[in-house]
Amino acid sequence: MTRVIARHYETAQPLELVVDGQTIVTVREVAAGVSLADDLPWLAPGFCDPQINGAVGISFLYPHRRMTQSGPVSMEPEEAWDRVLQACRSHGIGIFLPTLITASFETLQQALSTWERVCESHSQYRQVCPGYHLEGPYLSPEDGPRGAHPRAHIRNPDWDEFQRLQEAAGGHIRMVTLAPERPGAITMIEKLVAAGIIVAIGHTAASAEAIRAAVRAGARLSTHLGNGCHALLPRHENYLWEQLACDDLWASIICDGFHLPPAVVKCLVRGKTLDRLLLTCDASSLAGLPPGRYREWDTDVEISPEGRIGVAGTPFLAGSGLFTDTCVTNVIRYAGLTLSQAIHLAALQPRRLLGLPLPELAPGRPADWLTFRWHPDGVIQDIQWLNACCT
Ligand SMILES: [Zn+2]
Repeated sequence: MTRVIARHYETAQPLELVVDGQTIVTVREVAAGVSLADDLPWLAPGFCDPQINGAVGISFLYPHRRMTQSGPVSMEPEEAWDRVLQACRSHGIGIFLPTLITASFETLQQALSTWERVCESHSQYRQVCPGYHLEGPYLSPEDGPRGAHPRAHIRNPDWDEFQRLQEAAGGHIRMVTLAPERPGAITMIEKLVAAGIIVAIGHTAASAEAIRAAVRAGARLSTHLGNGCHALLPRHENYLWEQLACDDLWASIICDGFHLPPAVVKCLVRGKTLDRLLLTCDASSLAGLPPGRYREWDTDVEISPEGRIGVAGTPFLAGSGLFTDTCVTNVIRYAGLTLSQAIHLAALQPRRLLGLPLPELAPGRPADWLTFRWHPDGVIQDIQWLNACCT
């Protein structure tokens, strides 16, 4: 049994909790007048991130290797999975969708079937990983929109191929990001939606009409809105305004401090509102590694001491190097949100999108809650989990 006293992230009410392993046993308010430490930690649900590409040198595309500064080293998928899981948990992420980006059919199929075998091996892994996010390969091939997705493997939507990938994933592909302007994309969206899969628009150069057609077909999310775009766009007629204006589309945004300037984050928060927005860190395989130079994605990349991952010797980003806890801190600063509102975007909104149960602070409920230190002018730190998942 563990006893914890912390302030609820919405009300600031001090609570005393008793937890037994995975489960909350008791919750009670600490009575007024009881003397408490000035810097009680905050209590909030674990974050849920729909887009984690890997971390600490491990890519979800390549289950058998880990990247280091001196090159790749081989690793068993079980250990690779556990390393990513622990890295995510150390930053407050308790649920995530392992995300596989554009690659050959064989690479995607082998990766999905390997992770599926790992997930089946441990009963708690399915709670951590309620499904996979397939970001690609049905994306725009244009420079800018395609981002870091390799052009050689970008292709038109193919339902038969998708079904074979879904089979490799044991039916657990839960989200697909695609570009609706690709031939066959609208029919593909209809089939994915009918199969219960969340369809997101992303890495796209779509016309307004193609975006509207995708929404009519059931697309529900804009993946990392504001990134995966051309560097220059017509000021009025463009796919960013069209998606921002669409009340039927939610949006995920990357608030790592490098992917979007603060003013853009603020406008996206105001435009989408807290009801249609969520945070993602979009962590890349190099997220969480020490600063220095690495060779990844056939490119020399540099991780700065601040966690920025750039193409070495250029001003271009190569991927995300930070996690959801940093995004929470940033969105508070950039958009003037409260801690409660930012936690809403990082913990509750992704669960709502994915159709997962919302966390309840009540006896008998899962203890997938965390405590942390935070001050309005500071960062989230000292994250501790109430449960002992996966140990
Ligand atoms: Zn992307």
